[in-house]
Amino acid sequence: MPDAAKHRLEALRARMQAAGVDLLALGPGTHMQWLLGFYPHPDERPCLLLVSASGEAFLMPSINAEGSREHTDIAFHPWADADGPDAALTAALADVGADAAKTVVLDETMRADFALLLLDRLQGAAHQFTDATLGALRMRKDEAEFALLKENALINDRAMQAGFAAARPGVSEREIAAAIRAHFKSEDAEPAFTIIGSGPNGAFPHHHTGDRKLQPGDAVVIDIGGRKDGYPSDMTRMLAVGHPPDGYAEAHALVDRAVEAALAACRPGVRAMDVDAAARRVITEGGLGDAFIHRTGHGLGIDVHEPPYITSVSETVLDEGMVFSIEPGVYLPGRFGIRLEEIVILRKDGPEVFSELPRTLHVVES
Ligand code: ZN
Ligand code: ZN
Repeated sequence: MPDAAKHRLEALRARMQAAGVDLLALGPGTHMQWLLGFYPHPDERPCLLLVSASGEAFLMPSINAEGSREHTDIAFHPWADADGPDAALTAALADVGADAAKTVVLDETMRADFALLLLDRLQGAAHQFTDATLGALRMRKDEAEFALLKENALINDRAMQAGFAAARPGVSEREIAAAIRAHFKSEDAEPAFTIIGSGPNGAFPHHHTGDRKLQPGDAVVIDIGGRKDGYPSDMTRMLAVGHPPDGYAEAHALVDRAVEAALAACRPGVRAMDVDAAARRVITEGGLGDAFIHRTGHGLGIDVHEPPYITSVSETVLDEGMVFSIEPGVYLPGRFGIRLEEIVILRKDGPEVFSELPRTLHVVES
C-alpha cells in the first residue's frame, strides 16, 4: 500500500474511533480516490471498501478484481455475476470483524442499492455520512494537494485569458468556450466546465453555454474549470464588450467589495456562516441583497464541489489547509449577471488566493 494511503487510513481510524464508528463503507468514487489513490470501475455491480478498527477489505466484482489488484494489496472478496454479492459480503464483513456493526459511516455518494445491501445486512445499525470522519479529513488539504490545486489554478488563469482573447462582437458563447477548452488541452488539462453567460444570459448563474453571439454593451460571466493530475480548478471573471450596461460598474465594484469582505473574514476558527455573512452584508447594504441568490462558496478538492460549503447556515469551523471558493454574485433578470470567484487556501493568518488574475472587468473593443 502506498505511504499516502497508509497515513490516510491511520488518520481515518483515529476519526472513526473518536466518533464511535464500527464500520465505514465506501463505493467506487472520490472518497475512495482520496483514501487509496484509486477506485475500481464504478457500475451497477456492488463494490464496497469496508474499513473497521481492525482491518479493511473489499467486496469486489470478480470482473474488476485483476485490474484493481494493480493498485492495492487490500483483501478482495470477489463475487461473480452468476452468484451475486451476498456470500462475498458475508465474508468481507467477517474479515473486518464487522458482522455486528452498530454504527456505520456510509459514503453519501454511493449508489442507493449498495447502501441498502449493506444496511439490510446490518439490522438495526445506525448510519451516518462521512462529515465527521473521512469528510473532515478531506477538507484539510496537504501540501501535495495544495501544489496540484495551485498548478490547476494557474492553468485556469491562462485559459481565462484565452477566453478573453477570443471574445469580440459576433463571436458566440460556444466559440469562446471552445477557445478555453482548447487552452486547457494545450496544457494537458481536461476541460471540466465552461459557463459563458453573455448579456441577459449572465443572470442565470448556471447558464447553459449556447449560440448567442456577443453584442456591443454585453457583460459576460465566464466561469470555467479544468482538471489535471486528478485535481480541478474553478474561477469566474467578468468581461464586457465595449461599454457595459447602466449600473454595471457600481454592481461590479459592490461584488468585488463583497469578495474582499469575505476574504477579510476568513480565519481559522471562524464559522463558514460568518464568511457568508460578511459577503452578504456588503451586497445587502449596497441594495442588491435580493439579487445574491446563492451561497458564497464551496470546498474544492478532488471534487469541484465538496465540503466546506460557505452558506448562511453552515456552522462548520474553518481551519488551516481548507480550500474553498469565495464567489458572491448578483443576477439582474433581463439585464446582466456578475459573479467574481476566487479559490483560496486558509493559512494560519488568513486566506491565500490561488489566482494571479485581477478581478477587474476585462473590456474588449466593440
Ligand atoms: Zn465555484
Ligand atoms: Zn465557478
